[in-house]
Amino acid sequence: MIYLDNSATTKLHPEVLETMLPYLKEEYGNPSSKFYLLAENAKKAVKSAREQVALLLGCEDDEIIFTSGATESNNMIIKGVHDYYGKISKNSNYMITSQAEHPSVLESFRYLEERGTNVNYLKVDSFARVNVNELTEELHRQPLLTSIIWGNNEIGSLNPISELAQEFEENNLFFHTDATQIIGKVPFNLKDIPGIRFLSMSGHKIGGPKGIGVAVIRKQSKEIYTKLTPLLHGGGQENNYRSGTLAVHNIVGLGKAAEVAHKHINENITKLEELEKYLIGLLHENLGDKLKFNSDTKNKIPGLISLQFVGVNSELLIKKLSPYVALSSGSACSSSKPSHVLTASGISLEEVRQSVRITLNPQINKADLEIFRNIK
Ligand code: PMP
Repeated sequence: MIYLDNSATTKLHPEVLETMLPYLKEEYGNPSSKFYLLAENAKKAVKSAREQVALLLGCEDDEIIFTSGATESNNMIIKGVHDYYGKISKNSNYMITSQAEHPSVLESFRYLEERGTNVNYLKVDSFARVNVNELTEELHRQPLLTSIIWGNNEIGSLNPISELAQEFEENNLFFHTDATQIIGKVPFNLKDIPGIRFLSMSGHKIGGPKGIGVAVIRKQSKEIYTKLTPLLHGGGQENNYRSGTLAVHNIVGLGKAAEVAHKHINENITKLEELEKYLIGLLHENLGDKLKFNSDTKNKIPGLISLQFVGVNSELLIKKLSPYVALSSGSACSSSKPSHVLTASGISLEEVRQSVRITLNPQINKADLEIFRNIK
């Protein structure tokens, strides 16, 4: 069975597992404890993982907040900004996002909306991208926070995040991006994009373990932290942003995954692009006009293809192929309802029902894709 659902999750990288094992066995210290070796070792391990993640993202170590994953990071940032600044800002009642966000962003905004916040869910184009002009025209209304996904998890399109962030920087407004799907696949350095004040990412999408992610909260200046009401109150870990005993084994795993992703990003992109081109060629050859593509051909996450097998119910197809290949009918998080992303992109319900998402990984080879030659 070949696994082609790498946007849902990825296999643990072998080096990640090796790095984690000691912290599940003998190195069980709590990094918040003091003086004895077990605690000091745990502290050191967390520090070096933080440095590895900071290097991958291009931010300061103390701007990295470990969370349980991107769902938590998104909730924490959106609700935390609203709660903290809502009390002190006269513009607290207006927030912006798009219709094609991950459910953890959309539902966080819906939660705030039910409590009286005015949320603008921007329309998206046929590839689920926001319109830069439409968004920048809203900035005079001083939104408290705007959250736009960087790379879409269902259709793969990239939003022009650097360009948008620049506008937010110039207007001194808060901008958040959910970067979960682009880490290790789209090179960037947060030092060059100061307008991104907040960013979310997840460990298990980059060969790291599940249950660990990052909320990047960039400082206002070298000394001044951006304030946020925490989602979890308690012992004050993670600069008081996120309490709870640190999951050291997961943190060191994420650190190693970040290091590996950083080291291999260029070769991984090249490999994903090659595999994607090969697969599309093969599908065209085999199925011709029985195919229809939802994904754009450029400005996209390498290795993510959303397409339709015309006239074929995707769930039935995926089930039938499941002994040989793991595919997805959309995102793993919303498989029971028709995809809100594809619907927002103007794709009809019938087309949504025949849509399949294939997400490659750089560890496979062209020969692994031969299965698609036999689909009739
Ligand atoms: N945002 C995006 C774009 C995602 O693809 C996912 C995972 N499907 C998440 C957030 C949630 O990540 P996690 O599983 O770490 O909570």
